[in-house]
Amino acid sequence: MKKSIYVSRPYLPSKIKLNQYIDQIYQRNILTNNGPLVQELTQRLKEKLGVKYLLLVNNGTTSLLLAYHIKNLVNKTIITTPYTFAATSTAIKWLGANVLFADIDNSHWNLSPESVEQKLATGKGDAIVPVNLFGVPCDLDAFEELKSKYNIPLIYDSAHALLSEYKGKNIYQYGDIHSISFHATKLFHCIEGGALIFNQEADYIKAKNLINFGIDELGDIHDAGINGKLSEFHAAMGLCVLDELDELVNERDYLVDYYKQKLGDLLQFQTTPFPCVSQPIYMPVQFATERLLCSVEEALKAQGVFARRYFLPQHYKFLELPELQGLEKCSDIANRVLCLPLFNGMTESQIDEIVTIIKDNI
Ligand SMILES: *Cc1c(COP(=O)(O)O)cnc(C)c1O
Repeated sequence: MKKSIYVSRPYLPSKIKLNQYIDQIYQRNILTNNGPLVQELTQRLKEKLGVKYLLLVNNGTTSLLLAYHIKNLVNKTIITTPYTFAATSTAIKWLGANVLFADIDNSHWNLSPESVEQKLATGKGDAIVPVNLFGVPCDLDAFEELKSKYNIPLIYDSAHALLSEYKGKNIYQYGDIHSISFHATKLFHCIEGGALIFNQEADYIKAKNLINFGIDELGDIHDAGINGKLSEFHAAMGLCVLDELDELVNERDYLVDYYKQKLGDLLQFQTTPFPCVSQPIYMPVQFATERLLCSVEEALKAQGVFARRYFLPQHYKFLELPELQGLEKCSDIANRVLCLPLFNGMTESQIDEIVTIIKDNI
């Protein structure tokens, strides 16, 4: 039987190299608590991303919770996008804050600054959490203006956007905090892991204590923290993947271009009105109608190709229904976007096969 093709596949780096790191862990007998491999990965990521304050944590959801907590958002109202993975808003609920959705932009599919400002102008919203969705940066300048105009925290969920750039600049210069995920399905991963990047040193120091139960350098506990530490084994995986990251990105950039060239103007893609570098993490395509999307999805499935409908906010049953009302652009786009398979090691002939099925069913 023909092998199935899934929407993504985790990347496994050189086992020989991983074993060398594991040998080091066995020799040192240090498994966690900011061990040498976590420190090495922190240092290398700081250099790679050109940032000053970076803290590794055990996953991207912990990093979101920490970012919201550090900005004192318990019981407050956080404006965010409905068009994202569930964690962006489940973490808001879990923290004990309120979700307030603003609508998205129908070309770049990210949170619309105009829609956010409409909420802020009526006095609603204590913080903004845009998501750099599918590795495409939001309109970062526009959010920076809102941040200063309304004097509120700006936290980016950059889970998809580790290496993205905006108008030739580093995305991490923008906002107060960026939360990143290093989950196995992301382009760069530590199996499970994540990071926080800060623009203010005070936030970094707070976070550093919070991931260790709130215990500070002197052993005092001023704030109730959590266990958010990354282990040495996870850091070892991260160090191995990091060595290959540039090649992984090049390969995926090539695959994305190949898809786009083969699909031509059959389907639409995420676009931005500003220059940016997007990280090739997913391969989302937009259909003319939801019906067409469903028939193509079924046809692909019949041939063992599993695309995925990222993301369907109407499935967020933990929210009150009114929270999802009045978000016309989001409802429209979310219902017409399908993520096609994209992973390192994917072949041109697999893409040819997928494109042929799409063409035959459109
Ligand atoms: C993956 C992801 C997260 C959560 O990260 P985990 O490491 O899986 O906890 C948060 N936000 C977005 C947009 C994601 O895609």
